[in-house]
Amino acid sequence: MHRHDRPVTILERDPSRDARPPGGTLDLHEGMGQLALRKAGLLADFLPLSRPEGQAMRILDVDGTVLRDWPADPDEQANPEIDRGQLRDLLLGSMDVRWGQGVTEVVPGTGDGVLVRFADGRQETFDLVVGADGAWSRVRPALSPVTPHYTGITYVETSLDDVDHRHPELARLIGDGSVAVYGPDRALVAQRNSGGHVKVYAQFRAPLDWQADLDPADADAVRSSLLALFDGWTAPVLELLSHGTAFVRRPLHVLPVSHTWAHVPGVTLLGDAAHLMPPLGVGANLAMLEGAELAEAVAAAGDLDEAVRAFEEQMWARAGRWAKMTAAWLERLVSPDPAAALAVFDDVHPGPSVTTAPGGADRAG
Ligand SMILES: Cc1cc2nc3c(=O)[nH]c(=O)nc-3n(C[C@H](O)[C@H](O)[C@H](O)COP(=O)(O)OP(=O)(O)OC[C@H]3O[C@@H](n4cnc5c(N)ncnc54)[C@H](O)[C@@H]3O)c2cc1C
Repeated sequence: MHRHDRPVTILERDPSRDARPPGGTLDLHEGMGQLALRKAGLLADFLPLSRPEGQAMRILDVDGTVLRDWPADPDEQANPEIDRGQLRDLLLGSMDVRWGQGVTEVVPGTGDGVLVRFADGRQETFDLVVGADGAWSRVRPALSPVTPHYTGITYVETSLDDVDHRHPELARLIGDGSVAVYGPDRALVAQRNSGGHVKVYAQFRAPLDWQADLDPADADAVRSSLLALFDGWTAPVLELLSHGTAFVRRPLHVLPVSHTWAHVPGVTLLGDAAHLMPPLGVGANLAMLEGAELAEAVAAAGDLDEAVRAFEEQMWARAGRWAKMTAAWLERLVSPDPAAALAVFDDVHPGPSVTTAPGGADRAG
């Protein structure tokens, strides 16, 4: 919209750009996130920040045996990684954002545009409101009564800093990209971000109120309960958890596969607000591509409403396919049979696995 000289108001609930940690690394697919950056004229700025080596992937069993090892080709640009903070800064550039503007309600059909109410009691009208406000969208209720439901799978996230110097043995285990270890109903996944920062995700089946009485700020207690959950796994793998000093609980919620709504003039959704799905590598890519496509459709439109309708049809069809696929993957990745997880990677990974890890080690540690 910015490139088409269309005025846009960006409303963000966070009080500032750096109000909270931006989260883990993202891989941007050539035909999705990277295409959106190309349309925004930002691909050339993205490439030097991106980490093609981050596409490397290694899979272990709970004894530490390397089952698959896919090194990354540094020239391969299909899915390079980028830190979320870097991507956010790239996208925001010098654009004006109205920070600290929490939306509480959106009311279409006022006759005078779409009414937006804010947490501070003010209100304002707009021609088109695009709800890109994530899983717990406050725009969605204007279009759909549906809310996200719990998948039965929880992630607990922790981080390791300066891994190459402080934990060289873990650095070797993780390699240039990610390492994933699959056991019955549990997984441990560690992913490199830039600058030796690593995000570790403990993934397991649990009730929504798992350890609800545990103080999330009590890192020692959370670490102990996680180590108990992964009891019996080889020590070098458990080291991924033992060095975490802060833990964030993320129970995975999703919207129903193929969530749609009856079109309402002047309001639409994109990204997680429209189609929250398991976090398996496409959510941010879809949100970015949809943003680019909606902007192009609106910029070219004779009739704004027709353009938004056509955008929604296209988004629903594509997101429905991904939601179905990622729901099936999640069931197999955190499943009673770890072989099912391995099969997901064999299905989707384009290249051959090498038989031993670099350095000749075929066991963790
Ligand atoms: C552990 C994990 C790993 C993931 N890995 C990947 C990956 O590798 N690749 C990938 O493509 N996707 C990945 N995802 C998914 C991806 O993070 C999401 O799909 C993506 O962030 C959705 O973008 P969004 O803009 O729709 O929503 P969000 O990123 O949630 O952004 C919503 C924005 O709206 C703001 N907001 C919320 N409510 C209001 C309000 N009421 N008023 C004003 N502002 C509001 C929020 O502050 C936020 O800035 C992962 C997710 C997780 C949890």
